[in-house]
Amino acid sequence: MERDIYDEDHEAFRDVVKEFVKRYVTNEKREQWDAAGEIDRATMLAAGEAGIIGLSVPDEFGGAGMLQDYRFRAVVNEEIIAAGAGSLAGAFGIQDDLAVPYLVHMGTDEQKAKWLPGMATGEVLGALAMTEPGAGSDLRGIKTTAKRVEGGYVVNGAKTFISSGKTADIVVTFVKTGEGNRPDAFSLLILENGMEGFDHGKKLHKMGFQGHDTAELSFSDVFVPEENLIGGKEGLGFVQLMMNLPLERLSIGVAGAAAAQAALDWTVEYTKDREAFGERIIDFQNTRFKLADVATTVDALWAYIDRALKAYAEGKLSADEAAKVKFWATEREWEVLDTCVQLFGGYGYITEYPIARAFLDARVHRIYGGTNEIMRDIVSRPIAGKR
Ligand SMILES: Cc1cc2nc3c(=O)[nH]c(=O)nc-3n(C[C@H](O)[C@H](O)[C@H](O)COP(=O)(O)OP(=O)(O)OC[C@H]3O[C@@H](n4cnc5c(N)ncnc54)[C@H](O)[C@@H]3O)c2cc1C
Repeated sequence: MERDIYDEDHEAFRDVVKEFVKRYVTNEKREQWDAAGEIDRATMLAAGEAGIIGLSVPDEFGGAGMLQDYRFRAVVNEEIIAAGAGSLAGAFGIQDDLAVPYLVHMGTDEQKAKWLPGMATGEVLGALAMTEPGAGSDLRGIKTTAKRVEGGYVVNGAKTFISSGKTADIVVTFVKTGEGNRPDAFSLLILENGMEGFDHGKKLHKMGFQGHDTAELSFSDVFVPEENLIGGKEGLGFVQLMMNLPLERLSIGVAGAAAAQAALDWTVEYTKDREAFGERIIDFQNTRFKLADVATTVDALWAYIDRALKAYAEGKLSADEAAKVKFWATEREWEVLDTCVQLFGGYGYITEYPIARAFLDARVHRIYGGTNEIMRDIVSRPIAGKR
């Protein structure tokens, strides 16, 4: 089914991303990222130079100024994932969807001027730290505290599973600045790599996204100046997180659809090439029927995602609509990937093949950004008349 949400500007931008892929997303590079467990800074700087990260950073701070138009980010996701580089797509996503928005939409003028120019060039990489060893879904159960002192805060606690946590220069960190768990007991503070008492724990070994770092962070009496309080006002952290969650969830839905599309394309190509019993794999009725299912699912995914992209651009994508997109798209992604791996036979299990890596990457889409159970909880509450 033809998609009609992209105009000439998006397609011209797609050419820029394709050119970047040709130059920087080689097999050698991918193997390097996987072995190191992180994306090298030179690649992030090249992405900044090419203008494919920091997309929502306003022009005055050196970015592309595409504030509400997530279609440009969707183009980046589609092209990088189609190139079999899920880890790079993940690193770009953390920068543009999880870190930059807190400064662009909620930062003070000083915070914007200090960090946004570097975030557009890749010189300043960001991360978002909410999850703790004892609290993931239940965000208000966090224990990391920020105690008010003269000129700032003293932070104590720990975070885990933080994407880009090792490579990030600044970490937007969800902390308790008040008592209890009322929404106004929380704030977002920017912790800077190198601050005294801010340490990285052990490297976490994941089943997928091998080339993107995921870290534990620990804070021991870290002094954070008050200028690093996002928005300059205490007690807004929970509301600020809620404001960005629709974007985070839409971004995971887009990544899921892009992976499903890529899997379909790789599988059609592979099954046309490979033979068994004197026939091409694609000529078996089972293969064609499975591909018919997958192709239809991918069409439906784009139809739904494109509608969400449009709603987001118009400022109309609500939290529960974004939750629907996230869980539905990532579950369809999972089914598609599983079917496609099967059609690759044994090669589908070998991580040299993009299909195997995409399958392993896909698993966490149903877990992070809020688990799919939490998404269903969000969607079902208004249906059931609950708050
Ligand atoms: C690779 C990776 C990258 C990540 N990146 C980041 C990051 O950059 N920043 C960050 O802050 N976090 C990040 N996370 C953390 C992620 O968001 C959490 O793992 C996720 O929200 C789930 O929290 P949890 O692991 O504590 O699971 P738990 O909350 O302990 O959940 C365990 C199970 O119980 C279910 N459950 C929990 N509550 C309910 C309920 N009310 N109703 C029904 N079922 C429920 C869950 O759905 C799940 O199946 C990342 C995680 C991974 C694996």
